[in-house]
Amino acid sequence: MMWYSRETHCYDDCGFAVDGRVVAVLSHSPHQSRVTVLVERAEPTVFSGHGEAVSEGVSYECGAELSSGGTCTRDVDGPDELCWQHDEEDEDEADT
Ligand SMILES: [Zn+2]
Repeated sequence: MMWYSRETHCYDDCGFAVDGRVVAVLSHSPHQSRVTVLVERAEPTVFSGHGEAVSEGVSYECGAELSSGGTCTRDVDGPDELCWQHDEEDEDEADT
């Protein structure tokens, strides 16, 4: 069984390390030296604690940028989906 997870990595001149096979680059922010990639692994051995455990073969995370600098890790149904909290944001930003 293959295991997929969406991960965001910051990289430097040496690139970035992924303990799996990158099967797709979902987004890339050159000015932030940050990429979001879909990583394939043979099995879900260890969860490193920075995200929620993946419960099925394919899982996607919201990935919306947070004011804290990270990305939202809520589960969503597809690579272009946003979670309930971020899906309803208008372009001019919700006032709450
Ligand atoms: Zn979200």
